[in-house]
Amino acid sequence: MRARACIKCREYVLIRPDDPGNMTLISKFEKNHRGHTLITLNFEEIKGTYKKFLTEEEKKASEEKGEKEES
Ligand SMILES: [Zn+2]
Repeated sequence: MRARACIKCREYVLIRPDDPGNMTLISKFEKNHRGHTLITLNFEEIKGTYKKFLTEEEKKASEEKGEKEES
């Protein structure tokens, strides 16, 4: 599997050619890391050392979920 990664922030997004929503996610990622060094590589190479890039929506969703789990 291929991934788009930011060397500076050590974040990545997975490249899914069959997923139409994936293009949007990748462009969001690139916009977010504008001016940083972005590379395309095999996910295996960064697995465990880079963290997954989350959209604002996903961040909110995971935060809400976390709060619920705590209470
Ligand atoms: Zn970055």
